[in-house]
Amino acid sequence: MTASLSPTAPIDEFTPEQLELQQRARTFVEEVLMPLEQDAERLGGRLPQEDIERVRREAIAARLQGGRHAPEHGGQGWSMVEWFLVNEQLGRVTNGIHWHVPNAYNVLTQGTPEQVDRYLRPILRGEGGDTAYAVTEGEAGSDPSGISTTARRSEGGWVLDGEKWFVTSGDVANVLIVMANVVDGADRLPTLFLVEPDAAGVSIVDDPAYTHNYPHGHPTIQFSGVEVADDAVIGGVGNGDALQRAWFTEERLGIATHGLGAMWRLLEEATAWALTRQQGGTRIMDYQGVSFPLADSATEATVGRLLALQVARMVDSEADLKIVHAKASMAKLFVSEAAWRCADRAVQIFGGRGYLRSNVAERFLRELRVDRIWEGTSEIQRLIVARALERRGVEATIH
Ligand SMILES: Cc1cc2nc3c(=O)[nH]c(=O)nc-3n(C[C@H](O)[C@H](O)[C@H](O)COP(=O)(O)OP(=O)(O)OC[C@H]3O[C@@H](n4cnc5c(N)ncnc54)[C@H](O)[C@@H]3O)c2cc1C
Repeated sequence: MTASLSPTAPIDEFTPEQLELQQRARTFVEEVLMPLEQDAERLGGRLPQEDIERVRREAIAARLQGGRHAPEHGGQGWSMVEWFLVNEQLGRVTNGIHWHVPNAYNVLTQGTPEQVDRYLRPILRGEGGDTAYAVTEGEAGSDPSGISTTARRSEGGWVLDGEKWFVTSGDVANVLIVMANVVDGADRLPTLFLVEPDAAGVSIVDDPAYTHNYPHGHPTIQFSGVEVADDAVIGGVGNGDALQRAWFTEERLGIATHGLGAMWRLLEEATAWALTRQQGGTRIMDYQGVSFPLADSATEATVGRLLALQVARMVDSEADLKIVHAKASMAKLFVSEAAWRCADRAVQIFGGRGYLRSNVAERFLRELRVDRIWEGTSEIQRLIVARALERRGVEATIH
């Protein structure tokens, strides 16, 4: 399916194929994922294996696996707008259950045929396995240029040394995508390596609990003299930063899109509650203290959706990458902050029930908080937008 719309097409101008895809994703989310939310919460995010396998099977039956990956690699080859429509639906579910839909980080598209055969195809066939992306270190978070993990040449390969923090899915992944500086004399060349977690010298040194309940952990992983072969490099020596920028654009737009799905769900549930709950002889919706926060959230959801869709359309029309990068930052910044406000307001509207872990607003309040931190904090997104104002100009940045 290819979008035939211009980046400025009105928001409701989706093709019939895109609307069918959105409906397919919606049915999958409502019939397969939502019924698992309470179990996932009760089990600290870890669903039984049989449920995970059913999610994988149903996702493949609904043709939702590997969205942006190429059909010849087992993906769907979606445009960014199509990916937006599906991701928005996935964002309506709590406990990160959508992580079980077979998919892999987009940097694997840069893999050699052997790397694609080995890591990507089996995941997209639903045979299990996950990818994890390890950049952050104890002393290098918002500024990844400060990483100290190194890769030194050895006979027939490389030796990696360093420690990575907060590696999402690092406890279950069958391949770790690791950013390291290739040491070349006085030069340090940022490079991505594919490392198998059972390689000698790879160890999980901490696996802490976090605010949200999630399908996988975010452990700290140490690499001590880890030997990998020559072909463990992905995308070429020294190309790590460029690959990472493309990765960040997609991940940030993904966070915005999930946040929009979360706002959609929160507004549905909180509005339904406000229309039925009676106190003082009237529906609470009739109190402006309840209806105005809903109106504010609906307004922010609409604005966020326009912005995120604009970014998706810019990607599809191959607009200037630097502007797209800044716009993706705006979308992540705006939606992640608005979605958390929306969850906070929804908790208030549910009253005491909003504080129960069985309540969707309570779960989203915990889960959405990290969206203002990972893939670059809100402050880093503001820096990127401010730089675009300076370098690209106001008009190019805001239109
Ligand atoms: C649950 C979870 C999962 C994660 N998953 C992954 C993963 O899979 N892979 C991975 O590589 N990383 C992952 N991360 C790491 C995440 O990307 C970093 O936590 C994030 O980039 C911030 O880095 P930091 O924690 O070191 O904070 P710091 O960089 O130390 O920042 C601390 C504070 O200072 C502010 N600050 C820093 N620099 C500036 C500046 N220049 N201007 C203004 N303010 C600034 C920040 O905004 C923040 O408020 C994950 C984190 C979490 C919590």
